[in-house]
Amino acid sequence: MNARERKQFRKMLIELKRKLTNNIGHLQNDALKTAGETVDEWSGVPTEHMAERGSDNFVRDLMIKVLQDSDAELCDINVALEKLEAGTYGLCENCSGKLKKKRLRALPFARLCIECKQEEEQLKATL
Ligand SMILES: [Zn+2]
Repeated sequence: MNARERKQFRKMLIELKRKLTNNIGHLQNDALKTAGETVDEWSGVPTEHMAERGSDNFVRDLMIKVLQDSDAELCDINVALEKLEAGTYGLCENCSGKLKKKRLRALPFARLCIECKQEEEQLKATL
């Protein structure tokens, strides 16, 4: 990978990071708002009735899940940026093989090559 390509990927990663940080900010605001409204709604409701309202947590749980995924992605982006600095960007973390440019363009913060990723997913599926 030459300097020009590294520069391109750095630009892509920084742009992705900016978008993701924005999204996380919005989501956190929404989640806080929802949590606040739920608490208001519940004030005065006897504790024993709260268990029956369990499904109300669905939206909040979903938001937490999205936030966690975004956090993980942000972490991967930071790792990719560090690798760009260290000169190890574009190498698979498992087999040290080179990631295809096509894969990096589709997913600039990919940590594994397609072969290793597929293996990982198969492992997860059997768990
Ligand atoms: Zn690999």
